[in-house]
Parts: sequence; structure tokens; C-alpha cells
Amino acid sequence: MKNFLKLHKNKILSGGLLFLAALMALTGLYVWNLEHKPELQIYFFDVGQGDSIFIEAKDGTQILIDGGPTNKILPLLGGVMPFYDHSIDVVILTHPHADHVSGLMEVLKRYNVEMIFESGASYHTAEAKEFESMVIEKNIKKIIIDRPVKLSFFKNAALNFLFPDKSFEGQVLKNVHDSALISELDFEGKKILFMSDAEKNLERYLLQKGALEDIDVLKVGHHGSKTSSTADFLKIVKPEYAVISASDRNRYGHPHPDVLSRLSAIGAQIFRTDINGTIILNINNGRLTLQKEK
Ligand SMILES: [Zn+2]
Repeated sequence: MKNFLKLHKNKILSGGLLFLAALMALTGLYVWNLEHKPELQIYFFDVGQGDSIFIEAKDGTQILIDGGPTNKILPLLGGVMPFYDHSIDVVILTHPHADHVSGLMEVLKRYNVEMIFESGASYHTAEAKEFESMVIEKNIKKIIIDRPVKLSFFKNAALNFLFPDKSFEGQVLKNVHDSALISELDFEGKKILFMSDAEKNLERYLLQKGALEDIDVLKVGHHGSKTSSTADFLKIVKPEYAVISASDRNRYGHPHPDVLSRLSAIGAQIFRTDINGTIILNINNGRLTLQKEK
């Protein structure tokens, strides 16, 4: 018995030392990573047919825009967040369609979310209703975007919400894309426009309002559908890079060849999650670069 106990104790001790060594190695790796981390990173995750964009600043601020259609978001987030990090500062639900909201439910189960930004538009599907119940159940602070607001974080970084500029709270819309949260990230003179699934009517509205400007990167509206990214819109925003989030051989035919040619016509370099996998945008010392998984 005694011998057994001793052996057992030794096992625990060596196990403990191993664990400690592993922890030290991981911490060292993390510190090394942090030192070499760009000031701002944006991951356009390859979630299949949907959208999920993760913004992380060097100070640890994390913002997640949509969660894609499935739980695929969890290993993707797990791959870029430190293993001990279980919280996300801001989650943005651009609109309650399944290809944007379903993965967010998995995120709410796994992570502590500080606050959620949404339009508040009502939507009839089971997943949209379940998401709203989870937000209430978990007592997450909900911020309804109903006017242009600016979310300031790390250094001079700002996420500017361009739309909605009016309240959709509780409203049932014929096309819920018309309530999509559209935002522009501004950091060190670089501008990235997240169009969600906004269609040409919203593009026209923002153009007429004078809310759009010359940007660097466009997250192309509605997965490259031909109902978005009109020539008039592209002429004003003039992105150097265009990121399209869609799945390989999807049933909607996204991205549409017309959109691809309109983007090429203005000289935008196109990145696609269906071809390139997850796309990583880095901004460091005022320099913007894009990397692709494949
Ligand atoms: Zn969508």
C-alpha cells in the first residue's frame, strides 16, 4: 500500500513537472507571439456559405462580426485565440439570417461575451429566436444600432457604424438585409468596409447620404451576389482589395461572375474564402497586408 502510494505520488510529481514545463513553454510562445503580433489583425474565416470576421487588436480587444452557418466557427476561433481566453468583448450580429447567426449561438455557449450589437429587427426563424433568448438568458448587454455610432478601441482604432441610421427594433422586414449593420474600420489611415449582406438599395442609400468614401479593403456585400456591389458603389469606395466570403460550389452561385468583373474593372485584387480559405488582414506600422490560407 505504502509503495503504491509512493509510486502514485511520484507519478503526480512528474506529471506536475511536465505540466509546468508545458505551461512555461506555452507562456513563452504566447509572449513571443504577442511581441511579434501586428497591431491589428482581421480574420475573414472560411466558414463555408456565410460570414464570420474576427478583429483582434494587439491590446487584446476582440470583436466578432457574425458567426457563419455552423459550429465550424469554434475550431477557427480556437485556432487564433489563446487557449486560456474564454471571452470576447463585442459580438456583432449584422442580421439574423442563419448563415450569420447560427454559429454565434455556438460562440455564446463557449465564450463569455461582453456585449452584442444588432439592429433589433424581428425575424421569424427558430435560430433567430433562440439567439435572442440566449442573449437574455446569459444577461449579455445588447446595444441596438439605430444611428451612426463609433466604437473606439486600441490606440486610434475605430469601428464606425454607417447603418442602420434609424430604429428597426421589433420590426418585421420583407427583406431583413435592409436592416444589416454596415461598419467601417479605421486604423492608422487604413479603411476596411464591412458590407454584410447589404444589397444595391442600401448601397445607393449610403451613396446618396454621402456616407461612403475611398477605402482600402471591401468585405463584399452578400457573398458576391449580383444584387450587390454595383458599379456606382464601387466607383466611390474604390477598394484595393475585395474579400468575398462564400462556400465552394454553393447553390446560390456566389460570387456572381458579373460582380467579379465589376471588381476587376476597378482594379481590386480579389480574395475568396471558397478558394483561398481563411484570409488574414494585418495592419502594422501603417502598413496593410493580406495573407491567405491557400
Ligand atoms: Zn448571408
